[in-house]
Amino acid sequence: MITRREFLVASSASLIASGLPVDAQTASARPWYETMRRCGQLNLNERDPESLDVGPWIEYWASLKLDALLLNGGGIVAFYPTAVPYHHRSEFLGSRDLFGELVAATRAHGMRVVARMDCNYAYGDALAARPEWFERNRDGSPRPHGESSWLYRTCMFGPYFTEQMPAIYREIAGRYPVDGFFTNGWPSTGDLTVCYCVNCQRVYRDAVGATPPEQVDATSAVYRRYYDAYMARVLDVWKQWQSAVTEKRPDSVYVGNLGGGIRTVKNVKQLGEVARWFNADHQGRAGDTPIWDCAQQGRVARPVMRGRTITNVTGAYSNSRITWRHVTKSPPETTMWMAQTTASGMVPWFHWLGGAPEDTRWKEVGRAFFTWLAANEAHFRNRRSIADIAVLYPQRTIAFYRSGTRPGAWRGAERVQTSEYLQGMYYALLEGRFLFDFVHEDDLGAATLAPYRALVVPNAAYLPDQACAEIRDFVGRGGSLLATFETSRYTAWGDARPGFALGDVFGADVAGDLVGPSPNSYMRIGGRHPMLDGFEGTSLLPGPETRVAVRSSRAAAAAVPLTVVPYYPAFPPEMVFPRTPRTDEPAALLRQVGRSRIAYFPGDVDRTYWRSGNTDLGHLLQNAVRWVLGDTRPTVSVDGDGVVEAFAWETEPGYALHLLNYTNPNMTRGFIRRFYPIGPQRVEFTVAGGRAVRAVRALRAGRDLRFTQEGTRVRFEVPGVIDYEVAAIETGG
Ligand SMILES: [Zn+2]
Repeated sequence: MITRREFLVASSASLIASGLPVDAQTASARPWYETMRRCGQLNLNERDPESLDVGPWIEYWASLKLDALLLNGGGIVAFYPTAVPYHHRSEFLGSRDLFGELVAATRAHGMRVVARMDCNYAYGDALAARPEWFERNRDGSPRPHGESSWLYRTCMFGPYFTEQMPAIYREIAGRYPVDGFFTNGWPSTGDLTVCYCVNCQRVYRDAVGATPPEQVDATSAVYRRYYDAYMARVLDVWKQWQSAVTEKRPDSVYVGNLGGGIRTVKNVKQLGEVARWFNADHQGRAGDTPIWDCAQQGRVARPVMRGRTITNVTGAYSNSRITWRHVTKSPPETTMWMAQTTASGMVPWFHWLGGAPEDTRWKEVGRAFFTWLAANEAHFRNRRSIADIAVLYPQRTIAFYRSGTRPGAWRGAERVQTSEYLQGMYYALLEGRFLFDFVHEDDLGAATLAPYRALVVPNAAYLPDQACAEIRDFVGRGGSLLATFETSRYTAWGDARPGFALGDVFGADVAGDLVGPSPNSYMRIGGRHPMLDGFEGTSLLPGPETRVAVRSSRAAAAAVPLTVVPYYPAFPPEMVFPRTPRTDEPAALLRQVGRSRIAYFPGDVDRTYWRSGNTDLGHLLQNAVRWVLGDTRPTVSVDGDGVVEAFAWETEPGYALHLLNYTNPNMTRGFIRRFYPIGPQRVEFTVAGGRAVRAVRALRAGRDLRFTQEGTRVRFEVPGVIDYEVAAIETGG
């Protein structure tokens, strides 16, 4: 398999299109992991060496036609007879070299091996001998693991990360033919931790200036310096480890553990700059998380990796708000997670925990999906995404934002969930069946935004100067813009600007404080406009929960199709009448400058939509997106019933349209129990000029579809979608 893959990579080099991101263009020199499509992991426990039967396990993984298998090397527990001091050998290892046996069997089946490591904990003997390796509380005590209290948390700023872990990597790389190293749990995209060990105290004294706050607090100059110092250390360790693992094998790779979906604190753009392979440890959802959480993960990772490998781990076990490690998750939920991974351009990584399962129901779930992937592999080799809309991923607003709630607000303030603006916009885009990509706020240059007709900005309140300048340039080049609420009102760290940095683009000036959060305010329809289509029969629309008081800039000459009707009591009914039925305060501002169309909503319509589910707000957002896109037809359209997330790709054989069927009573509360098939989906797909379509095939259904082609326009109908369908469009020329 390895030989064939390498041959295919080399022979396809000349086919790589010029539209591909720069990083992915050096095709013949691409390392093995850049063309990997299927990945699996058996995650061992300390006791497994006592009884693990290597043969059947490796046969199972080989039956999934994996490119690479993750197997436990060491870190907390060594699964081989290590000679590195304080590297704890499994107490059940005996005379075995379990890792060595597994590596040999995996290689014999033509799969690559990635050593799964854990750098986050070590045993008490290490704590006694090397106290400077470990995190400390304020009182100097070490930090034991919450469940396994004989393990102690290691500190990223200490020599455990720069001496001990590299020593272990070198030992494994010296003894075994491994193709990469992965560290569980580090660095993650979540909150920074604050530690009081000697190494951290030195960092606080020399680089930060004081002990940082324990919670996210971007108003603190100390927190800001700590954030920068923390990111710098993460990137430095990452580079050191990449260097250590490639000493013997230049095509080896270090894989860090990332993820977080749309809720990241660490800057994913910076992480993407050092990551050769971005692994999202985003194994499933819990509670009220919407099903599309995995597709969102792909959308966050893709723009920072620019065509390089992204994997997403799917837990085959039941990980949710309550975790069971040793029973199988609902198979439809698992399948939908892997489908989203694939549709959004990531590589699925199927994960089971423990070498002696008493529940084996998960095995066929993975095998069915992976063998289908393998049988259609060429159609999952993507060259570029096809979408008309870019959605700005508001990194700093999601990480740091504090706004929207004020003491004394109506019925008490609720904590602002900083991703809810993006989530509401996302839901509106799904329901409107728009095809879109995420772009990162630190990468909005002309080349990045060139493929898109419109940029959608869901409350990027904390927006760096450069991003503001790049958005202004995009509009100046004829690009369209839809923005909401406090977008550009604060600097990257959240210092208030005098007004919006993009106020001239919006045609809006800040006229006062935030208003809200409050219910029972409205937007009054002020005339006819395409953005108001479908609202016949009402002159009022539901108002956003919170808004920035704005006035229309005199110079901008923006249209004001909606005005604010301020809050009045919702209870008791006797008191429910408007005190100020009409104002001239804009609730939406629309401008057209040349080809560019700009829609700005001073209210948090996106977040209010997510929190309320009010259908008028979703409809309004969809109308606004359609209006900013202008009159030309979309590159791809999918028409039919159902809640569907769509991705379109240019692929090596042509194109592929991925349709994920979310129509399900468990769409916003897991787990999916069964699928609810949807009917015909009518597709119009624009192909590049001169490319004749030879066939359109529904890969999940396994049948050819009738199609017509007129010039660049291809039309076909997908008869139905059970869980997931991929319409593969094969082209010549
Ligand atoms: Zn420390």
